[in-house]
Amino acid sequence: MLTQSALDPARAVYDQIVPAGEPWMREILKGQYFRILDLEGNQAADTLFYNAHDYDDRYSAQDTIREQANIYLTTGTKLMSSKGNVLLTIVADTCGRHDTLGGACATESNMVRYAIDKRHMHACRQSFVKAVLDWNHVRVGRRFSGAALDKRDITHNINFFMNVPVTPDGKLTFEDGVSAPGKYVEMRAEMDVLAVISNCPQLNNPCNAYNPTPVRVLIWDPTS
Ligand SMILES: [Zn+2]
Repeated sequence: MLTQSALDPARAVYDQIVPAGEPWMREILKGQYFRILDLEGNQAADTLFYNAHDYDDRYSAQDTIREQANIYLTTGTKLMSSKGNVLLTIVADTCGRHDTLGGACATESNMVRYAIDKRHMHACRQSFVKAVLDWNHVRVGRRFSGAALDKRDITHNINFFMNVPVTPDGKLTFEDGVSAPGKYVEMRAEMDVLAVISNCPQLNNPCNAYNPTPVRVLIWDPTS
């Protein structure tokens, strides 16, 4: 469902470009608004969310799909956690739908899906691992945080802006993106959350038009 946001980027409390292929990680406080903007179009922003106070309580694709009875994510979708909490709600979406079935690319899946010599290529799973291991240094001494994160904590993800349609007979296909330059998705945090993005470096499938590009992330306070 296409919906615009009334929030003004000039009033954002945080505004950052995530370069193509790079990870990004930050806490988003309850009530804050979080926007991911596809700067050049057809970029996949692979994203994980955790309860900022309990990292065992994390985004669950299964619970999200079952609760909303729909496989695509868009305006109105409540992003559910593994312990049944609403982490965030999508409040604006100018792209139309986002995937949570396709998973994140990995060196192992690159090898299986494309060719043995693709194994060395940078993949989202490595960006996620790098981000959470770096976070283990950042989180020390913070006001709140969960236990240390490692590779086992990287589970279900959302592929914002990624087009993974399911055919009438249930086939899953990876197609050219439906996003375009300037399209965005915006969420309201329903609790304090920790967000991790892998701005997908994939060069072997059309999820990002074979051309990884930057995305922009913005955060607003509730009063903005
Ligand atoms: Zn990827």
